[in-house]
Amino acid sequence: MSSYVDYATGEPVRDTKAPGGPVAGRWDKRRFEAKLVNPANRRKHTVIVVGTGLAGGSAGATLAEQGYHVVQFCYQDSPRRAHSIAAQGGINAAKNYRNDGDSVHRLFYDTVKGGDFRARESNVHRLAQISVEIIDQCVAQGVPFAREYGGLLDTRSFGGVQVSRTFYARGQTGQQLLLGAYQALSRQIAAGNVELHPRTEMLDLIVVDGRARGIVARDLVTGKTATYFADAVVLASGGYGNVFHLSTNAMNSNATAIWRAHRRGAYLANPCFTQIHPTCIPRTGDHQSKLTLMSESLRNDGRIWVPKAQGDTRPPAEIPEDERDYYLERGYPSFGNLVPRDIASRAAKNVCDEGRGVGPGGQGVYLDFADAIARLGRAKVEEKYGNLFEMYARITAEDPYEVPMRIYPAVHYTMGGLWVDYDLQTTVPGLFAIGEANFSDHGANRLGASALMQGLADGYFVLPSTINDYLARHPHHDEISADHPAVTAAVRETEDRLARLLAVDGDRTPDSFHRELGELMWEFCGMARTDAGLRKALDRIPQIREEFWRRLKVPGTGEEFNQSLEKANRIVDYLELAELMCLDALHRAESCGGHFRTESQTPDGEAARRDEQFSYAAAWEFTATGAAPVLHKEDLVFEYVHPTQRSYA
Ligand SMILES: Cc1cc2nc3c(=O)[nH]c(=O)nc-3n(C[C@H](O)[C@H](O)[C@H](O)COP(=O)(O)OP(=O)(O)OC[C@H]3O[C@@H](n4cnc5c(N)ncnc54)[C@H](O)[C@@H]3O)c2cc1C
Repeated sequence: MSSYVDYATGEPVRDTKAPGGPVAGRWDKRRFEAKLVNPANRRKHTVIVVGTGLAGGSAGATLAEQGYHVVQFCYQDSPRRAHSIAAQGGINAAKNYRNDGDSVHRLFYDTVKGGDFRARESNVHRLAQISVEIIDQCVAQGVPFAREYGGLLDTRSFGGVQVSRTFYARGQTGQQLLLGAYQALSRQIAAGNVELHPRTEMLDLIVVDGRARGIVARDLVTGKTATYFADAVVLASGGYGNVFHLSTNAMNSNATAIWRAHRRGAYLANPCFTQIHPTCIPRTGDHQSKLTLMSESLRNDGRIWVPKAQGDTRPPAEIPEDERDYYLERGYPSFGNLVPRDIASRAAKNVCDEGRGVGPGGQGVYLDFADAIARLGRAKVEEKYGNLFEMYARITAEDPYEVPMRIYPAVHYTMGGLWVDYDLQTTVPGLFAIGEANFSDHGANRLGASALMQGLADGYFVLPSTINDYLARHPHHDEISADHPAVTAAVRETEDRLARLLAVDGDRTPDSFHRELGELMWEFCGMARTDAGLRKALDRIPQIREEFWRRLKVPGTGEEFNQSLEKANRIVDYLELAELMCLDALHRAESCGGHFRTESQTPDGEAARRDEQFSYAAAWEFTATGAAPVLHKEDLVFEYVHPTQRSYA
């Protein structure tokens, strides 16, 4: 039996930075009350930013523009290859260009409700307010958002809302936004204000006298480890969905930066809140190492259906209209195909479990554009979604203009992450977390097109304001010595871990362990979770970990470019994080958003929250590998959007 389940409950954790008063005035109030650093003094401060995706890229560029000295890291060969480049569908903003009833308050309301009442009101309101400024900033940078005939920026709809507030650049919104952030960052690199270290991976956090003061990083080309020091450290290292092995994330996305920070004292919040996206290309077999998303934007025009009869294997064109079940339109007439992701994913799973799934193994549902093509014409559909259709055709060898796409849910995004206060500071003073790396604003389910909004809000606007307050209060003009015991310990632990991985010399590849762990997580901590299943996973993970350290085989050495070593080192962290995710899922004996506990559902199969017991964010404190962590609860208070049973019917 796993001993992990015997966790202790510690003192509650509180966000002490969000001011009181009316929610609409809190961000202004905080900015006004925060201390500032004199522009002439900013160059004396160094800030480390780990990550160059939308969150890190925008933060690095903005901090350098303000005058700080920024030292920035990514493991890719260029900041442009951060996972954010893959974002397809769009970015939300409460601009109300369509005059369809949108407002800051409505975006705030939709996001709190969409997150199933497990996010902080203060943060979400700020996000909605800032959303408007992000679009202006990006347009000024030249991001080529789609425009409608009058010249205004065009918008489309995403799940869980009834207005059209998603700004987009075809199916390449992340790419265009990242190029905007990257050009702003490049300007600062050229000006000497940002020192960029590509192909360099942070492997530990350096904490001196209780404050984050630097990192240990490894040059992935030469294998050399080195230390970097700063007055504050910002983690913008993205999400950890790849703990499931198969996900829509970039193959290299990983949890190491946040997990190592967690081990050094940063609490990790709501780790079990994982988003399973309903519209991904179904997996085709065991050979796959990644899954591909078909953007949620496709649900604006595509209709989702399965045959009414079980085991109906006729080609879709031969299934007459009255023998099709457009199950989302039937079950949720108000939102139809645009219900939020958690609901659409579960509905797809349910119809497949009933034996009505399509394609190999019955693990798929149709996303059909026949009606849209008849209504709008093929040219219009191509203009809106052309690159997505092309991607689908290349991967499946089927033409989605002629036959419906087949889709199935897949792991996509992690709402959990490092616990941060309103200033985006973790429980380690001087350590900040932004973008998908923090637990922030999405509660138990992120609405589509809100990750880009949050990442850019954090990077362009929130962090550059709040970090001033920390730096002004902790000027840290003292140099950190490389001989400081905290530094030498962090370096030694990192080097020992790498050496240990190389020394095992067993007979299994890192990938085989990753796959085994991922399959376990998908089965027991995926779309539906049970008490018994989670306990099974908690028993099994330590066994996999033990086998990993006995049978792992990493070829090559540590003094060269060695991707097996990189991967093995990331799996070490997945093997600990997975355990915490299962424990978090086990302790939260309610369903909310993407966290569906089979034991807690309404009579019609929807997620049943238990607010009286679980209206809190779960912030976990690390104790030791394999030892039970400590739970700190942050109670959630709802003054404006009162918790109700979410309904999209
Ligand atoms: C296929 C796909 C499509 C999506 N489409 C949308 C969309 O249309 N709209 C939307 O709102 N959201 C979308 N999302 C979600 C969104 O793309 C991500 O949440 C967001 O881009 C994350 O940005 P980020 O800056 O936090 O992290 P990332 O873009 O993941 O960047 C992480 C950065 O950290 C660096 N890094 C990580 N660890 C280390 C380390 N240890 N050392 C050094 N560097 C490190 C990486 O090199 C990288 O530069 C999509 C996600 C996927 C998977």
